[in-house]
Amino acid sequence: MTHPALDDALKHHFGFDGFRPLQREIVQALLGGRDVLALLPTGGGKSLCFQLPAVVDGGLTLVVSPLIALMKDQVDALQGNGIAATFLNSSIDARVATRRLDALDVGRYRLLYVAPERIVMPGFLERLARWNLRRIAVDEAHCVSEWGHDFRPEYRRIPELRARFAGVPLVALTATATQRVREDIERYLPLNDPARFVGSFNRPNLRYAVFEKRDAARQLVDWVAARGNQSGIVYGQSRQTAERLAQRLRAAGVAAVPYHAALPAEERARNQDLFIRDEVRVVCATIAFGMGIDKPNVRYVVHYDVPKNIEGYYQETGRAGRDGLRSDCVLFFNGGDAAKQRHFVRQIEDPHERDLAQRRLREMLDLAATPHCRRAHILRYFGERPESERCGNCDNCIAPPERIDATVAARKLLSCVYRISSRGGFSTGAHHVVDVLRGHATEKVLAWGHDRLSTFGIGSERSKDEWLFFVSELLREGMLEEDPLHRTLRLADDGLQALRDNREFAYAKPKAAGRAKKAAKVTAFAGGAADDDLFELLRRLRKRLADEQGVPPYVVFSDATLKELVAKRPTTQTEFRGVGGVGDVKLDRYGETFTAAISAYAASASGAAQAPHRNPSEGDDRA
Ligand code: ADP
Ligand code: ZN
Repeated sequence: MTHPALDDALKHHFGFDGFRPLQREIVQALLGGRDVLALLPTGGGKSLCFQLPAVVDGGLTLVVSPLIALMKDQVDALQGNGIAATFLNSSIDARVATRRLDALDVGRYRLLYVAPERIVMPGFLERLARWNLRRIAVDEAHCVSEWGHDFRPEYRRIPELRARFAGVPLVALTATATQRVREDIERYLPLNDPARFVGSFNRPNLRYAVFEKRDAARQLVDWVAARGNQSGIVYGQSRQTAERLAQRLRAAGVAAVPYHAALPAEERARNQDLFIRDEVRVVCATIAFGMGIDKPNVRYVVHYDVPKNIEGYYQETGRAGRDGLRSDCVLFFNGGDAAKQRHFVRQIEDPHERDLAQRRLREMLDLAATPHCRRAHILRYFGERPESERCGNCDNCIAPPERIDATVAARKLLSCVYRISSRGGFSTGAHHVVDVLRGHATEKVLAWGHDRLSTFGIGSERSKDEWLFFVSELLREGMLEEDPLHRTLRLADDGLQALRDNREFAYAKPKAAGRAKKAAKVTAFAGGAADDDLFELLRRLRKRLADEQGVPPYVVFSDATLKELVAKRPTTQTEFRGVGGVGDVKLDRYGETFTAAISAYAASASGAAQAPHRNPSEGDDRA
């Protein structure tokens, strides 16, 4: 197919004005009849790569997908664009299944989604042979590999499907890119001389930031409160944290629900659904949450606790901003949390696993503490060479942190901890250590004779907060260890070694906790309050239309489309069609309703006062 014809089809069926990186190439390879391996990050637009060929090129596209919950959402989204799609899985009853099978017999559908179990169900392949199968898409293809994070044995039955339909091109798609997983995918499906496409793992619209964690629950409430009606995910370490934070947010008037593995299945499903349908704003979750959601308008992901490794961090933050609009990824972090994680990892019994976990944690802690570009750090971690060492869209690029030389302070602190424990044979908490350093003759100091230590009073030049910051940094670096129960400090072997080696220390000055609040306040529109009002109005209209059809709001229009509607304010059908995300079916379905709402808004006093048609690229924060 020629370039313009593909562009027209993209606009006509999906409403998009252009392809995302590699989408066009993948579509063309598939239309050319080749097998394809496509590695694109979350939000890269993988679905479109097989959906567009399915609609421009007759016959049936079979989509193998592991997530039953997602199938319905994807089919809803396709039907929202007027594309004939359906799914077969264990969630539908026999009558409905029979109806769908009959419709497949007469060629009613362009796309059929199935779970991999379906392939080996009696009679399925025979029936499939009657359906003019033109193409097979294997979504989440890493599930075929034991090296991936989500191995599904049923994926190993896909070769039976391949063998039966040897000439039918197959596309395997995944966001998991390690070499081993890649090789497994090619070997086990198997792929036949595939065209390989590997996208960059950079997510330019995600803004990464780390804030010093202090009174974290308060920080979280401030952050969420500053984000208006936006959707967000908060990841915490434990089920209790998820519950507690959801409660805390609710007490502050925010619609929030918890999500973790210990909740009954129905409650989990309900909470997820509330979130997808924009009925609650925030999900407070453990890492159990996220695999099965495609919600494109997650505007922020907060890590309340430090993740165990960069893979997890990248995956979880990756759930923000699939629609390409600016979204925030924030980590609340301090050395105490680092020490807690370290302690936890030390308990792993298998020495090989422990080593691995320790290494991966150290890499994550380095990312949390780096004074340099966080994006460049992440990309290098995944083996990519970043385009620039300054992305301009992470906290360190936006406001480079001050470096402080901490060599003298670290020596004083490490020796003080050492002296305290060798004196009495017991350890004390950080506050006591700081009292000794600063020469405060408290009751405890006197009772334990710590006023007679050589380190008593050698740190009076610094404030208590400064010392606590150094404690936090030395914990993060593993120079100090903290007993998780009694919160007492001891000198780690590495700390002793550092004293002997006269090691130098330097730290990035932490971003004050209050900065998080400021960073949270994003103004979505350069146009200010009037634009916000119109966005809110369109959002409510979208929600009403979605509820009437029983689908999630994003099936009607994405946030990106709403934003463009606010910026362009189309009042005719032609103008409306010029907006990204408006395909011809949606133009028919919603054009009049939305343009009428926009006209009415413009005519109302507040709207009329300021409705200059701005160039949509101005104030558009798509990165
Ligand atoms: P992935 O599966 O790679 O995470 P999706 O297929 O879910 O990504 O796509 C993410 C979002 O991007 C969806 O909301 C989709 O509608 C949108 N999208 C995909 N391709 C384009 C495009 N060419 N232009 C604009 N939006 C797109
Ligand atoms: Zn940067």
